[in-house]
Order: sequence, then C-alpha cells, then structure tokens
Amino acid sequence: MATMDRHTAGFDQLVRFWLETAPARGVVARFDASLAAALEHHDYPPAVAQRLRELSAAATLLASNLKQPAQVILQAQGSGDVPLLCVEATEKLSFRAYANVREGVQIDAETDLASLVAATAADARFVLSIAPEQGQMYQGIVALRGGTVADLLADYLSNSQQTQTRLWLRADGEAIEALLLERLPDVQSAPRAGVENADPDAAWDQVIAQAEATFAVPFMPFPYAQWLGFTFADHDVRMDTAQPVHFACACTMERVLNALKLVGEAEIMPLAAENGHVETRCEFCGKRYTVGARELSSLFTAAEQHDGTHPPTSSTLQ
Ligand SMILES: [Zn+2]
Repeated sequence: MATMDRHTAGFDQLVRFWLETAPARGVVARFDASLAAALEHHDYPPAVAQRLRELSAAATLLASNLKQPAQVILQAQGSGDVPLLCVEATEKLSFRAYANVREGVQIDAETDLASLVAATAADARFVLSIAPEQGQMYQGIVALRGGTVADLLADYLSNSQQTQTRLWLRADGEAIEALLLERLPDVQSAPRAGVENADPDAAWDQVIAQAEATFAVPFMPFPYAQWLGFTFADHDVRMDTAQPVHFACACTMERVLNALKLVGEAEIMPLAAENGHVETRCEFCGKRYTVGARELSSLFTAAEQHDGTHPPTSSTLQ
C-alpha cells in the first residue's frame, strides 16, 4: 500500500456517519496538526499536554452535535499541581486549550486527569458547560474520579443525557483518534429487502462491542470509509463528507480590556504608571496585548461612570 498522506489518512478531519442497520449514528475524528497548533505556545509537562489533547478531541466531538452557535467548555478543577485544565470547542469545530500548572512541580508522564488536578478525588471536579451565543448556559458538575478522560466522559454522558452516548479516545504519540456514538430512537419500520429487522437493543450492543474492539488495539489511520466499513462490519454505514477540525482562539482586545477592568484600577494603574503600559498574554494562544496607560485610565473612568448609574451596586460594595 502506498504511503498515505495526512489528509487521506483523515488527520484533522471529522466525519459524521450513521448506520442503516442499527439505531446508531456517530462522529469520528483524528487530531494531529490542530493539536500541535493549540499547544505550540505552551511548554506543558507531557501528562498535562496529553490530557489537554484528549479533552480537546472530546470537546470537539461534543461540539459537533451542537444545533446552534455555542461553545462546549470542559474544565477539570482542583487544588493540586494543575488547578485548572480548560478546553473550549465550538460548533465550527474549532477548539482551544489551556492549563494552569503550578511552578516547580514534578509531574509523572502517566498521571491521570484526576491526579493532576488534586491529591484526592474529593477535591477534584469536572465541569461540562454548553454556552450558546444566545440563550441560557447549561452546566453540569461531577466529581472527578481516577481513570481516563474517555472513561470520565462516558460516565458523565451516560448519567446526564437522555440518549445513550458513548465516547472512545486513543492516542498514537501526539495524535488522537476519537469516536462518539449516539443511540437513535427505535423506529418501527417495515422490514426492507436485504435488511434484517434486528432487535434494536441487540443491534446497539453489537455496535458498542465493535467500537470497543476497534479501540482495544493501537490506532491505524485508515481512510474513514474503509475504517468505518471494517469497524462496523455487518452494518450498512453511510458517511458525510469530512470537515476540518482546527485550533482557533477567540481572544480579542475587547475581551482583554474587560478582563483588565475586572482585575481593577487599584492593581492595574500602578503597573501602567511604572511602564507606561500594561502587557498581558492570552492564556490560550499566547498572543500578547499591550494596553497604554492613557487607554487604561479612560477604561477605568468609563467603568466608574457606569457604576455611578447603578448606586445600589456600588453602595453594597462600600
Ligand atoms: Zn488567544
């Protein structure tokens, strides 16, 4: 077989598929250069980088199911060596990732997510948020127990969703392959020629077993049509055209100014007075933003005037 290029091999692409012969649909994606782009401005310990890769893949698969412009945000939080790992993915299949690592800590390369975040599981939590551009944010919080990112999300999904959803992840070096399967409602249909009218529970169980078998062995980047064909052998698999997955950061000067406003005049203005400006760096992409002292003072003046129109808030704070 000729050497496959990265595109033919499905890297940094996502494919939606469904099975004509089982109540299931799914999404499969392989992440490689997109993950490298998301992490290139960071120098994370290997275990932190790998957990961020896995979370990025999982978040992007979950975001591919969004029906409107929104973000899926996965956060692991605790009081340990890595108090926060945060990944965001959008319905456009872009994602970004960030971790807060305490200085000077030594982290074993095999450390699982829960152990990174806290010394004991009781201090660790996992938050899944869906933040639509318009409308109400959904947030679910679970305790973060040991195990893989895939196990954690599998538990989470089976407890929180009305539909049965399963997720698998596996790595080949720094590349990740991810699969999400969702059970579709059973339909009472007349038997079709050549299609066995199988028991839907049995058909779903078989599809799960097939996915388990595929993910039990190391990852081989076969083209998706071929991969789906042998993973779900005996099923009639249909697939959409592949879509790119990519790293993109949502940071803007406006967001930087809002963040500086939250930090507050008392902290920021002395820094600005010293240097004539304040420099800040996006935690996700590493981009540097420089804000001049004059711009900062008008930012805080505007904030004060705004507060002035809301006397109840400012008087509560005093
Ligand atoms: Zn950024």
